Amino acid sequence: MTIRSREPHPAMDRRSFFLGSGVAAGTVWTGALTAQLIPTRARGAEARNPTNAEVLNAQTQRALRWAGRMPADWVRARPGVDHNVMIVGGGQTGISIAYALRRKGIGRVTVIDRCGPGEAGIWRNIARMHQLRTPKWLPGPEQGNPDLGFRAWYETLNGAAAFDALDRIPRLAWADYLAWFEQVTEAGVRYRTRLVGLEPAGEYLRVHLDSEGAQRTEVTRKVVLANGFRGAGGVNVPAILRGVPAHLWSHTDVPFDFSRLAGKEVAVIGAGASAFDAAATAIEHGAAAVHLYSRRRYVDYPAPGVAQVPGSPGPPGDRGHANVVELLPDLPDEIRWRNWRARESRSATVPPDSLARAVQSKKFHIHLGSEWTAVAPRSQGVSAHIAGKQRRFDHVIAATGYRVDLSAQPELEVIQPTIARWQDRYRPPSGEEDATVAQFPYLGAGFQFLPRPDARAEYLRNVHCFNMAASASFGTLVGDIPSVAQQPRLVAAITRDFFVEDVDPAQNRRYVEAPIVPPSPAPYQSAVSSS
Ligand SMILES: Cc1cc2nc3c(=O)[nH]c(=O)nc-3n(C[C@H](O)[C@H](O)[C@H](O)COP(=O)(O)OP(=O)(O)OC[C@H]3O[C@@H](n4cnc5c(N)ncnc54)[C@H](O)[C@@H]3O)c2cc1C
Repeated sequence: MTIRSREPHPAMDRRSFFLGSGVAAGTVWTGALTAQLIPTRARGAEARNPTNAEVLNAQTQRALRWAGRMPADWVRARPGVDHNVMIVGGGQTGISIAYALRRKGIGRVTVIDRCGPGEAGIWRNIARMHQLRTPKWLPGPEQGNPDLGFRAWYETLNGAAAFDALDRIPRLAWADYLAWFEQVTEAGVRYRTRLVGLEPAGEYLRVHLDSEGAQRTEVTRKVVLANGFRGAGGVNVPAILRGVPAHLWSHTDVPFDFSRLAGKEVAVIGAGASAFDAAATAIEHGAAAVHLYSRRRYVDYPAPGVAQVPGSPGPPGDRGHANVVELLPDLPDEIRWRNWRARESRSATVPPDSLARAVQSKKFHIHLGSEWTAVAPRSQGVSAHIAGKQRRFDHVIAATGYRVDLSAQPELEVIQPTIARWQDRYRPPSGEEDATVAQFPYLGAGFQFLPRPDARAEYLRNVHCFNMAASASFGTLVGDIPSVAQQPRLVAAITRDFFVEDVDPAQNRRYVEAPIVPPSPAPYQSAVSSS
């Protein structure tokens, strides 16, 4: 299949969207297919067909033009305020929300990320699967503009058949796509800038930033926490590993040089998708043996052909639902509580290809119903007590996920004592108590923190939490691709707050009471009838 521009070849201007990382995107994902797609006849300066990257460039410019220019910033500037919205995190969530807010005419939206350019998010560092776990057709950050979606990007570079042939989205293609999306939507992420503190400042918020080692203080009206799965309490480290020297174990969420495991006996604690990906990566880097330990007596993976029943209340049966996900927060507290309890008690299902990637090796061993009860460092490696037996390993990988504990986030130190948790707002029936879910913040409908009943912390309505901590309130993992469907709630809430707060009663009165001065009748005077 050949993609050709239906329009005359557009001149590439200096602001080509494919300057910089976009070129890298094209080169990574066009490969052999591009060779087929670019016509083989002479590519003279005058008569050549555009490359796929050029077609994408033209198509994207056209899509942005047809979407209409970015609305002018209508939010009233306020003295002493640097930003209308500061978004913390330049991963897929942060750049998506930034684009949506700017399409609403909200200016001075600033995205910060502690990482350097190209390093934000998880896709090039701690994610180790070959393909995304979610279906390839889910809507992403494009905010309803399909020309900015993954499919348009991928098909234009590689051909429709190439997209059709994908099982799921290749992980690095998703990373390249996000880099492109960031560029074409001009997200303008301020890199190497970390939020280190947040506090009220009258009716605004003061943010303390570490910007390449320099400390800065700025003022914003709103903060959006888009700081990822580990941004609401960090990683979950089993108590038995806490005293073990750091070089003897690692968590899957931390970038790690797997070549260090060559020739080693490795243990993986956990049986979710990341556990299998880490096990396979260790084997592919030459580990002598990898033993995966599951407390449960089974490994959870999606049953083939079982689809989510549309409209069914409760957590989705798979991660390809999307149609009703935005309605989950409207369920009563009782149902949301039960749903999240049920979700917490399950491990992330393992895609069949991740399962097969590890299982195909004879060096890989699964131990079901095997709880670790103690670990002790030895002269080499560790000794572990598992289900009544002692085992020795050179290295342990904790694939134990994340936790939600706002008190563990240093940047929230000042505000977190005032934030309402589920335990402050909902009392479960006897037998349904759950200390883990009780710690999740109980969020308002716009993802804003709410104050604890006894706290005078009105300012919390300006701190919006779009990370894992929002999951109990919103009924699905918040931050993953399916949860993009929830972003319009947050965007609408922020837009509404600015719109309502910016009403100036005096100006409004002047407007409604202004005498009506009819314009000159000259343009229609000749047709005015006197009868
Ligand atoms: C291993 C793994 C695989 C996954 N696979 C899938 C999948 O296949 N499909 C799917 O839908 N979801 C998947 N997810 C879930 C989710 O899509 C990803 O976690 C995704 O990266 C979330 O995007 P995000 O932008 O919310 O957060 P992140 O991508 O984590 O980005 C957060 C950003 O915030 C920055 N940051 C954090 N704290 C600060 C601070 N204080 N100051 C400034 N910047 C800060 C970080 O540097 C980071 O760049 C996966 C998650 C994991 C962990």
